[in-house]
Amino acid sequence: MFPLYFDPLYLVFSLPALLLALWAQWRVQSAFKEYSQYRTYSGLSGAEVARRVLDFNGLHNVRVEVAQGFLSDHYDPHDKVLRLSQGVYQSNSVAAAGVAAHESGHAVQDKEGYLALQARTAMVPSVQIGSWLGPIIFMIGLFTVSFFGTTLAWVGLLIFGATAVFALVTLPVEFDASRRAKLALVSQGIVTQQEMKGVNSVLDAAALTYVAGAAQALSTLLYYAMLLSGMGRSRR
Ligand SMILES: [Zn+2]
Repeated sequence: MFPLYFDPLYLVFSLPALLLALWAQWRVQSAFKEYSQYRTYSGLSGAEVARRVLDFNGLHNVRVEVAQGFLSDHYDPHDKVLRLSQGVYQSNSVAAAGVAAHESGHAVQDKEGYLALQARTAMVPSVQIGSWLGPIIFMIGLFTVSFFGTTLAWVGLLIFGATAVFALVTLPVEFDASRRAKLALVSQGIVTQQEMKGVNSVLDAAALTYVAGAAQALSTLLYYAMLLSGMGRSRR
C-alpha cells in the first residue's frame, strides 16, 4: 500500500522496518558471497547435501532440481520437489551446504506435518488474493468515506492484514528449518565445526530478512489502522 499524500508519520512508521530490510538484504548477500568462496571439507555439492539430508530422513521420494535465479531456492510442498538455485545446486561451498540443508529442513517439516508450515501453505491462496484485493477495497473505502464511513476501508485493511499474519507465521517455519539444517549438517558430518560459522552467518542473515518482512507488514498495517481510527474519530 502507499500513502495518499506525504505524511511524516508514515515515514516514522515505515522507515525502521525498511532500514532493517535493506540491512538484512545486504547481510544475506554479503554472507552468501563470502562463504560461497569456501569449499567444504566434505566437498559435497548443494544437490548432494540436500540428497543426504533428505535420504537420512527417509524422504527418498523428494526430488532435487535446479531453479533459475539468484537465491531462488525453495521447497515445493505440493510437488514434493526441492529446487536449488544454480549457485547452490552445483557449488560445494559452505554457503551452498547451508542453503541446501535449510531447504531440506522444509521438506522434513512437510513430512512431519509441522503445524506452522501447514498453516503457511494453507494461507498462500488467500494471501495472494488479499495482497492486491485488500488495498483496492481500502482505497475505495477511503474515497467513499462520506457514504459508508470508514467501515469499507476497515474491511480492506482486514483483508490486507492476512499478509501480515502470513509474514508472522513464516517466522517459526524459517527459524525451525534453519535449526534442523544446522543439526543435520553437524550430526551427519557434512560440515565441520569450523565451517559451521559460515553456515550460521548465512542462515542467520536469511532469518533476519523474514523478521524485517514481518516488521514491514505489521508497521504498514499499524499506520493505516491509525489513519482510519483517526478518521473515524474526526467524523463523530
Ligand atoms: Zn526457508
